[in-house]
Amino acid sequence: MLAYNELRKDYLLNRWVVIATDRSRRPTDFAKQRTESDQNSLCPLCVGNENMTPPALLLYLKQNEEIKTDRDHNGTRSKNWLIRVIPNLYPAFSPPKDQTDQAQIIKSGSYGFAIGHHEVLIESPNHDEDPADAELPQLTLLIKAYIDRLRELCAKPYVKYISIFRNYGKEAGASLSHAHSQIIATPTVPIIPAQEIEASKKFYEQNQKCVFCDIIKKEVKSPRIVIDNRHFVVFAPYASVHPLEFWILPKKHASNLLGLSKAEIKAFAETLRTSMKALKDLVNDPPYNFSFHLSINHKSENYYHWHLEVYPRLSIWAGFEKNTGMYINTVKPEISAAELRKILQA
Ligand SMILES: [Zn+2]
Ligand SMILES: [Zn+2]
Ligand SMILES: [Zn+2]
Repeated sequence: MLAYNELRKDYLLNRWVVIATDRSRRPTDFAKQRTESDQNSLCPLCVGNENMTPPALLLYLKQNEEIKTDRDHNGTRSKNWLIRVIPNLYPAFSPPKDQTDQAQIIKSGSYGFAIGHHEVLIESPNHDEDPADAELPQLTLLIKAYIDRLRELCAKPYVKYISIFRNYGKEAGASLSHAHSQIIATPTVPIIPAQEIEASKKFYEQNQKCVFCDIIKKEVKSPRIVIDNRHFVVFAPYASVHPLEFWILPKKHASNLLGLSKAEIKAFAETLRTSMKALKDLVNDPPYNFSFHLSINHKSENYYHWHLEVYPRLSIWAGFEKNTGMYINTVKPEISAAELRKILQA
């Protein structure tokens, strides 16, 4: 009998992936020898080297037993920080210098100014901090810092989207090895979130419900589920484009993280740590990218549902993926989920 590879379409995007199981690779086939990173060069993000970076625009400072929020003042740099957010030295997007610039972000249909913000969020004073084994209070602070920056940036009239993401490992594009995330605020909504938001709007108009709430209901009963706890679900998406890809979705419907309660922030930190730890243990600390998908447009409150997408970088995409936008995944999402569940139960 002729066996074909499966062709699967994303829940919302018009993006197809070939699940090429005939290569029958197991997720653990991707585990590789850990290459020693060059630890010799001076780290500008480490404690004591604050003067190598611009002044912090947000600091969580440790004061006695309290956490105080502040920023660097008048050329001084605080050293007793737990979290430090600084402008990127080489920003892709820069704040407007005056009002006229704000009005001219998009000058025509195909030309504009890259106005926005580009920040580096230093996640810990500890150089090698990793969400997979961070202390829960510190990881909770990290989520709070994401939310603080989101709140401030989304209030700016020229900001239409905010991408919060983490690149881990050289292969995933991290140029600095100190634990950090990046935040980029853009003057237009980039194509992938824009398509997701548009498709979820359409679904809402046709079905009077949120497509992601629907996906959660289906995936908790599917072989792709990894974690199902009180506040969050983690699953390998049906049309995963990466081996071991997983998404974290809040059970409470919300279009972004601004309305998370204290308990939910803590639960998110825990869920993030647990799932990142499973990935780390399963394939020996792989490089990855994770990024939040969210909406800051009030109109999409009812139909868009924020989530975190985690892309392990275990295989190198070749010409086909880059040229066509169609993907080949050599590990079935159901297998990825089963392996992650197995390591969680171990
Ligand atoms: Zn460092
Ligand atoms: Zn929803
Ligand atoms: Zn998404």
